[in-house]
Amino acid sequence: MRISFEIFPPKSLDDAQPLWDSLAALDSLRPAYVSVTYGAGGSTKDRTLATLRRLVEDTSIPTAGHLTCVGASRAQVQAVAADFATAGVTRILALRGDAPGGPGTAYEPHPEGFRSAGEMIAGIKQVANVDVLVSAYPERHPDSPSFEADLDTLASKVDAGASEALTQFFFNNDDYLRFVERVRARGIDIPIVAGIMPIQDFRQISGFAAKCGASIPERLAARFAGLEDDETTRRLVAANVAAEQVLGLVEAGVTDFHFYTMNRPDLAYSICRLLDIHPQHIALAA
Ligand code: FAD
Repeated sequence: MRISFEIFPPKSLDDAQPLWDSLAALDSLRPAYVSVTYGAGGSTKDRTLATLRRLVEDTSIPTAGHLTCVGASRAQVQAVAADFATAGVTRILALRGDAPGGPGTAYEPHPEGFRSAGEMIAGIKQVANVDVLVSAYPERHPDSPSFEADLDTLASKVDAGASEALTQFFFNNDDYLRFVERVRARGIDIPIVAGIMPIQDFRQISGFAAKCGASIPERLAARFAGLEDDETTRRLVAANVAAEQVLGLVEAGVTDFHFYTMNRPDLAYSICRLLDIHPQHIALAA
């Protein structure tokens, strides 16, 4: 099994001790990498870079920097990519990013910018010796007219040199499995890493899901109903729900998982322990 984790850059690196402590625990699971998000339109550029630097310096976990091209010229995107590589980052997740109005609103490329994530890939590779990762959408991207259009986009990103795709989070395993079937039928053979979102806060995740076109099954709403003020039970349910989802995927033969930690990697860590992903297991499997 291959696991990776996503965090967002904390507001202040010094005030984020609990995050660094939990990352130290994740380090022991030997993840393929930890990725750091890039705020809408580059709003966290400096903090993303500082967080990546700190990960490189303080942990042995390989790192991936997210990078978007919305609202930026080609030169600006390439400068950030070069800074990531100089900091020791080995992977960049190349993303178009959302239009300033949010997902589903009309996207306008910067006049001197890359028009798509696909176009970014060659530009990144010109300035940074990194693996380029891309996104994929099991339930369709909100801007996309059809599943076919999404597959065309993914195929063009692979043709441009993407080595791995991370999916948007999903809660119906069948959506992911059907998507992977379509991807393979299209002749795309890069890993399609399953994006797993542990539900720490049901209302918040429902809001994200509505924006990015991910559906939430009724049974999940029922499991979290009435737990708004009961964090302990909520976290126990969250760990079990995510572990159940991953186990279902493992039974279907899935091996690659990316956990959206929402900067609470302790929950992702406990899910990995529930799944028997722990240092001893990894040592035995190696
Ligand atoms: P693409 O893969 O280029 O396009 C997505 C789909 O939209 C395509 O399949 C295509 O069908 C359709 N599409 C694209 N452009 C057009 C167009 N002009 N007309 C019609 N259809 C079109 N956002 C951030 O700001 N920061 C992050 O750190 C971040 N991390 C993410 C990590 C993951 C794993 C994922 C899945 C998403 C992340 N996002 C992030 C969100 C992402 O920026 C948005 O979903 C954005 O709207 C699409 O960017 P993309 O690179 O996925 O787009």
